[in-house]
Amino acid sequence: MNNIFINVNNLNDLLTAKNEYGKKAKILAGGTDLVVRMKNKMMDPEVIISIRKVDELKGIHSKKNDLIIGSLTTHSEIEENSSIKKNYYPLFQAVYSLGSPQIRNLGTIGGNIGNASPSGDTIPPLYIMDAKIKLMSKNGERIVDIKNFFKGPGKTILKDDEIIHSIIIPKGRWTKKISGFYKVGKRNALAIGVVSVAWIIKEDTIRFSFGGVSPTISTTEIKKNANKKKVEKEVLKAISPIDDIRGSKNYRRDVILNIVEKIKNDNP
Ligand SMILES: Cc1cc2nc3c(=O)[nH]c(=O)nc-3n(C[C@H](O)[C@H](O)[C@H](O)COP(=O)(O)OP(=O)(O)OC[C@H]3O[C@@H](n4cnc5c(N)ncnc54)[C@H](O)[C@@H]3O)c2cc1C
Repeated sequence: MNNIFINVNNLNDLLTAKNEYGKKAKILAGGTDLVVRMKNKMMDPEVIISIRKVDELKGIHSKKNDLIIGSLTTHSEIEENSSIKKNYYPLFQAVYSLGSPQIRNLGTIGGNIGNASPSGDTIPPLYIMDAKIKLMSKNGERIVDIKNFFKGPGKTILKDDEIIHSIIIPKGRWTKKISGFYKVGKRNALAIGVVSVAWIIKEDTIRFSFGGVSPTISTTEIKKNANKKKVEKEVLKAISPIDDIRGSKNYRRDVILNIVEKIKNDNP
């Protein structure tokens, strides 16, 4: 198909274009997912709207109670932000381990969420930090809990005229001491994880979210003093891994159980 390519310069023009073209149009942010899919003939949108010049969607801002990350903020920008490294450590680790430096320089957090992969690295940390997503259209905006945003692999609640504006994370102090992110992949730099785990300790409980083991991210909470059997029961209740080319369902289950056990043992 001969794609129509539109370059928008600001948020208003973006919302107008999305309103006009609706589901015929795909947004192009860093392009690290979309361009690969188009090259592999998995997708051929009639209209492509490039948002790279939309400054309103860029950057990391501190508000009174929240940290706001614009959807067009790159993984490198998140990685280099000292507040994120210090106080939002699972998100720092996720972007630090995402792809290669080139992918991190181009790829954006909005694209990682918009792609809605069950293995998207930024998503498990956002789940355990209770992030919300601000969606916008010509007709208004809405803020949704990230847990309600994904409907399944590649599927979200985004309406045809809507875009992801920003990610809102309630302010917290999720330091290296009490939180983290693990990813197990096939190859190091360029592989999307087979499974991933983000975790945060809150008093006597460890909160976990898991990537790559359910149609969307799954979560569970485990008491620090729970025995191995109870831990296994809780984790297996939360996840529903499947076989695919990157790993078998039993492998995914075993890796998740081992990581959870390790995190629990490391944080008595
Ligand atoms: C070699 C390679 C390695 C990779 N490694 C990893 C990895 O380790 N971990 C990982 O999680 N991912 C990985 N990826 C996938 C990809 O790089 C990330 O998902 C990245 O964050 C996508 O961002 P982008 O800006 O490039 O998205 P794009 O390709 O521009 O867009 C992706 C999707 O999101 C939609 N979208 C983008 N922005 C918005 C918006 N503001 N509003 C609404 N919809 C929007 C697009 O329409 C499209 O459907 C890898 C990709 C490659 C090619």
